[in-house]
Amino acid sequence: MPDLAASVSPAPSPAPATLDASPDASLDVQLSHELATLDDAGLRRRLRPLTRVAGAELRAADGVTLLDFASNDYLGLAADPRPAAAAAELLAREGLGAGAARLISGDHPAHHALEEALAALKGTPRALLFSSGWAANAGALPALAGREDAIYADALNHASLIDGARLSRATVRVFPHGDLAALDGMLHEDASRFRRRWIVVEGVYSMDGDLCPLDALVAIARAHGAFTYVDDAHATGVLGPDGRGSAAHWGVTVDVTVGTLGKALGTAGAFVAGSAALCDLLLHRARSFVFTTGTPPALAAATLHALAVAHDEPWRRTRVRAVAARLRAGLAAMGRPAPGAPDGHVVPVPVGDPRATLAVGEALRARGYLVGAIRPPTVPPGGSRLRVSASAAHTDAQVDGLLAALAETL
Ligand code: PMP
Repeated sequence: MPDLAASVSPAPSPAPATLDASPDASLDVQLSHELATLDDAGLRRRLRPLTRVAGAELRAADGVTLLDFASNDYLGLAADPRPAAAAAELLAREGLGAGAARLISGDHPAHHALEEALAALKGTPRALLFSSGWAANAGALPALAGREDAIYADALNHASLIDGARLSRATVRVFPHGDLAALDGMLHEDASRFRRRWIVVEGVYSMDGDLCPLDALVAIARAHGAFTYVDDAHATGVLGPDGRGSAAHWGVTVDVTVGTLGKALGTAGAFVAGSAALCDLLLHRARSFVFTTGTPPALAAATLHALAVAHDEPWRRTRVRAVAARLRAGLAAMGRPAPGAPDGHVVPVPVGDPRATLAVGEALRARGYLVGAIRPPTVPPGGSRLRVSASAAHTDAQVDGLLAALAETL
């Protein structure tokens, strides 16, 4: 078997900023100019492969061990051998591929078993699997909203929600992050102009780590006859009783929930949960469901097992909150209190400038800690930050080590 880490070529050296960007230049020259512009702004990115050793330990291509405070493996399940063993059993019997879209011949009992378990987790009549959270949002929003509808979107919504809203061709109105009074005002102004009105938010915001107050949001939606669409990517498996997510945390019911499986559950894929009619309509109209190959059945089997582990080991949810609280207390003691909930598992450390953020990220890496250095377009200009994510896999000693490294580098 080839050594994958060793076969990765080094990052290309940055192109000089003086390259010709005129329309007559060759395609490569034009593209290199765009890359050089990104470089100049401190926004160039590159891929760096990592292999997972165990728990939060990763190994880089140069053999160096890094502690993972960058991923969304909130419950510490990504490296758990039990979901992997469930996948391996099915893999050994049937191989990997679903072979076709589920509506053709790629539908498998493992997909249905997982959908039933996800619907049970969310307390909804049904759930429908998608190959990723991106695909779920980019497919579901255009299936549910069209030209005669309106989407009211929080300003910090994930890129996949923004793109799904754009693809829908609905009128999109963006309200300032978390500003429910502004949302209420917009809904008043637009009364009776649209067929359906959707309020689209995240349960836990991916880069800020704060919660959307769904109790107040659902009350506003009801008052205006609007529907609620909640991307619960960062809450599913973590928040609420039994990890049921944001709606359960706030004790409300929402119309549409999207959950992703590549974060707390440690596998990959996503789902939409809601009524039977909702899921049946998506099965017909969500283009990212209809026109794509079914999720590998072994992956569905792994996720089903991960759900069982997450359910049977509630200590993981307690632990991730304790890790988050320890991180936040340490940052506050350093005079850098993190925004968001006191035990919120996404822990942002605002820096501002993209280059400075990258420099701290690299300095932490040199000390053995991998932390997200988040820059535009993932966050708004000026909003560059370190994104530290807590995991049940972190030990107190690892958290304290990161805090000491942050104290040296910030
Ligand atoms: N929604 C939100 C809020 C996310 O943070 C993400 C992933 N960063 C996605 C959707 C996309 O999920 P996936 O990685 O499964 O495509």
